[in-house]
Amino acid sequence: MRRRVLSTNQIVDGVLAGDRTILSRAITLVESRNTKHFDQAQDVLSRLMPHTGGSQRIGITGVPGVGKSTFIEAFGKNLTAAGQKVAVLAVDPTSARSGGSILGDKTRMNELSIDPNAYIRPSPSSGYLGGVNRMTRETILLCEAAGFDVVLVETVGAGQSETMVAQMTDFFLVLMLPGAGDELQGIKKGVLEIADLIAVNKADADPAKAREAKREYSSALRILQPTSQHWRPQSIMVSSLINDGLDQVWDLITQHRTIMETEGEFTAKRARQQRDWMWTMLRDRLLETFTAREDVAGRLKTLEADVLAGTTNPTAAVEEMLALVKSTN
Ligand code: GDP
Repeated sequence: MRRRVLSTNQIVDGVLAGDRTILSRAITLVESRNTKHFDQAQDVLSRLMPHTGGSQRIGITGVPGVGKSTFIEAFGKNLTAAGQKVAVLAVDPTSARSGGSILGDKTRMNELSIDPNAYIRPSPSSGYLGGVNRMTRETILLCEAAGFDVVLVETVGAGQSETMVAQMTDFFLVLMLPGAGDELQGIKKGVLEIADLIAVNKADADPAKAREAKREYSSALRILQPTSQHWRPQSIMVSSLINDGLDQVWDLITQHRTIMETEGEFTAKRARQQRDWMWTMLRDRLLETFTAREDVAGRLKTLEADVLAGTTNPTAAVEEMLALVKSTN
């Protein structure tokens, strides 16, 4: 059965009323590759814009198996029990390729997925990082307009998507496994640089190892340049399975928020994120529009092959393409 087409007004009103069926439809619109949908989605978003920005945006990352869904299930339940409305989004640019999505399977969060104050949305299925970036940012805005107080954005521990999520959230939480000794060697130093808090999970399973990991991460954090002069990232131990330490995570997030707001950094950071996002999107869209041109696409393929074969150098190839940009002006 075909679904009834909703007007822009109906979508805007439905989202503002917190109607989750309509929220899901709005997100689907934002995720659509159809240009007609794109235009309507942008219309919806600009009308909803005045109602956005009100949530606490939290990014969460960690390697598969670290306990992200167990954490989110328990943490999310704590928040809904305290009367907060929680949205959980996922970013997994690899899911289109691998066929599986980190949140595709809602049974990973059994209780939260049926909680009336929670909303869980799996990763958009477009495997293209720039596409997932835009869709996730716009989905955060839609959830905010629908009245969610906390938006959790989960991502798998893979370089680019972690940075991307950190750039769209207010607080970035990194979950780690006990046994840091082995891990620190190959540690993705990059992820420590963007962490606001490191939580060593599964502390119940091996408290001694967890304590050691906590210590190691603490000293690793100490030698890094903090992202804010008013916040020193720290590491703590938690156990998501038995809901231990999760209230401390929330306390630290609220402390961070208060400090950032008092110091004027909160607004500044969000503004900076908007500016960076504008540039990222402009670069993406320009490149997309340019490479989609018929005269460009064919020539680009040939030039790429020539560069690969070593018969043309990259600079010459770029100069030739730039000449094409200028030729249309
Ligand atoms: P994800 O892949 O990061 O989402 O990890 P999951 O949440 O699916 O957890 C992976 C496994 O670790 C599951 O078997 C969980 O039950 C287990 N697990 C998660 N958190 C804890 C914890 O705090 N303690 C213990 N002992 N096991 C945990």
